[in-house]
Amino acid sequence: AAAAVAVPPVVGARLAVPLVDGRRVGYANLDHAASAPCLEAVRDAVDELLPWYASVHRGAGFASQVSTKVYEQARAVLRHFVGARQSDAVVFTRNTTDSLNLLAKALPKNTSVVLFDTEHHAALLPWRGPRVHRIETPASPGDAVLALDTALSGCAVGPRLVVLTAASNVTGEIWPVAALAEVARRHGARVVLDAAQLAPHRPIDIRALDVDYVALSGHKLYAPFGAGALIGRADWLNAADPYLVGGGATAQVVDWGDRLGVAWSKVPERHEAGSPNVVGAHALAVACETLTRHGWDAIGEHERALLRRLRSGLATVPGLRGLSLFGPEHDRVGVVSFTIDGVEAGLAAAVLSAEHGIGVRDGAFCAHIATRRLLGRVGAREQRALRVSIGLGTTAEHVDRLVAALRSLVADGPAADYVLVDGRWTP
Ligand code: PMP
Repeated sequence: AAAAVAVPPVVGARLAVPLVDGRRVGYANLDHAASAPCLEAVRDAVDELLPWYASVHRGAGFASQVSTKVYEQARAVLRHFVGARQSDAVVFTRNTTDSLNLLAKALPKNTSVVLFDTEHHAALLPWRGPRVHRIETPASPGDAVLALDTALSGCAVGPRLVVLTAASNVTGEIWPVAALAEVARRHGARVVLDAAQLAPHRPIDIRALDVDYVALSGHKLYAPFGAGALIGRADWLNAADPYLVGGGATAQVVDWGDRLGVAWSKVPERHEAGSPNVVGAHALAVACETLTRHGWDAIGEHERALLRRLRSGLATVPGLRGLSLFGPEHDRVGVVSFTIDGVEAGLAAAVLSAEHGIGVRDGAFCAHIATRRLLGRVGAREQRALRVSIGLGTTAEHVDRLVAALRSLVADGPAADYVLVDGRWTP
């Protein structure tokens, strides 16, 4: 095997977990797509900030000054991370779901929204009403471009928004964002990119892709939970009512007797009511900086080598059927979903955990339409799949252990007895 590429270290690399037979083994976290482990650099930066965090934009004390500076620096880092225009707003949110819901609430009246139906629920569900056009995801990127063109031609007059996912959380496949954005542009439509799955693996450039908004989550980007961002055009966000109302979103409040007169702040503060999550924003920014500084070439090399190893290993598991939107050869990040004939996904996930110390995801991945359709396409009877996802915390040993575990599960079945407890297989 090729020598491992040096990548930024994550915490928990030496975590050991108990197995059903009483042994302990090193934990193999093969669920990076759900939440990635924290970078050591992020942990250290958070540790340094903890004594200093205080109210942002509100206090005159030294700690408040430090926190305000750190928070605004984090905003600048996020802007740079996605190559945003100087005029773009960078709004801190809780995660991608929050970012997309914020944008949905800020759309001008009568905006037509066009999207593919295989989106993650976070991108599929926030848009409501008769002007939402759902396109059945075609089997090739070229057909997706044509289908978007047709859908946009059928939209009513008025503002338009195209919702695109950069990389699928079910199959890892990378969408042809630049080509789709070009179609959107021709129709005068804006584009929001759900970058939750792409941002941890590849550089994102709003200007090169020619998209209008990017949504992402810190916890998928090797930072802890609680911080995400919506980055993009300020005009709609400035024209909309605040996402939440309260302190921070207000420039001024006056008592007009029978009611209150409120002047809302401009973005980003307009949509950041309440005390900001300065530690989360800093963690997210340090993660972005660490990845950028280390370089996407090395990160890509590490992930490509492991993905190759994973896919060639999985090809040796009898009865395994891989899921894909655009075909197995399509470019993807380190996410692979599959079903195995005669082995229930939930049981397989339980066995991998209890007997091998491997964490994977099973189910429909908050993308029920996509997962069920792709399972149907490979002729699976199950409604659930297994998903393995890799990243900076993954080693060749984790991948090899997974492949060996699946092969032995198919050949010999589970080593322990399992019962269903609250819908989960439990040894
Ligand atoms: N979009 C995609 C493609 C995702 O994979 C996820 C997370 N599974 C989300 C959106 C939502 O992210 P979050 O749960 O951090 O809001």
